[in-house]
Amino acid sequence: MKKYLLTLTFVFLGACASSGPKHLAPTDGVKVGESSSLRNLVPASQLEQTAARQYQDMKRQAANKNGLAPDNNPQVIRLRAIAKKILPYAQVWNPDAQNWKWEINLFVSEEVNAFCMPGGKIAFYTGILERLKLNDDEVATVMGHEVAHALREHARDRLAKSQLGNLGANVLSQALGLGSLGSQAINQGVQLVGLSFSRADEKDADLVGMDLAARAGYDPRAGVSLWQKMGQLSKERPAEWLSTHPSGESRIYEIQRNLFDVLPLYAKAKNTTVDQLPDYKP
Ligand SMILES: [Zn+2]
Repeated sequence: MKKYLLTLTFVFLGACASSGPKHLAPTDGVKVGESSSLRNLVPASQLEQTAARQYQDMKRQAANKNGLAPDNNPQVIRLRAIAKKILPYAQVWNPDAQNWKWEINLFVSEEVNAFCMPGGKIAFYTGILERLKLNDDEVATVMGHEVAHALREHARDRLAKSQLGNLGANVLSQALGLGSLGSQAINQGVQLVGLSFSRADEKDADLVGMDLAARAGYDPRAGVSLWQKMGQLSKERPAEWLSTHPSGESRIYEIQRNLFDVLPLYAKAKNTTVDQLPDYKP
């Protein structure tokens, strides 16, 4: 009976959720499915406010320890220049992104890490730039990947699903108070930094990230060299980003397999054709 109620609730919630806004994928570039409509159970505005608050806290705490790179730091200037080329394409994947208050900051830390929180709060750690000696194409690949998690609302989706999983016996009565359902997920003190995603969401972020970077004029073939460097690093020491982003042959294989969809975007950004593109040199 309990199982039946749960199934019924999922169907009911699914119907409610699917009435939310749809993200239409572009007709060119990578082919990925629609974002899960279950995510609509968690209010985006509330999630974005929580993310903004956590991001500001992180910045303040880092600044107190001289751990926030200043605006005139060359790497900050570089990251923001790359973001400036990528972010105009964000709304191709999520029209709401045009209202986001994007921020790009660099944290001084050995950690090999980067993230983008819901609502467009981007962070890189000096560790990922320095230890992997990332070129601009590789930085754009990491940034595109993280921005894709935010645009495709993977955190929102994950919270909705974990909340549904916690429902238990009182499913139907709780489901009727839908508004409070999503808020509950956020109010339970969710930590948005270091959230790990499903394998499917990781693949989605890899592909949408490549698409964004290519549209912005960054070589999508950098995805291969990036993950090779990551794989190499993981043999030497544990890296924070790798704990939530397992490297490996299957990841590189998927990137290579989808290059055909994004190389035309890159060639177009460079005013040339795929045939005329020079070889990629990592
Ligand atoms: Zn990821």
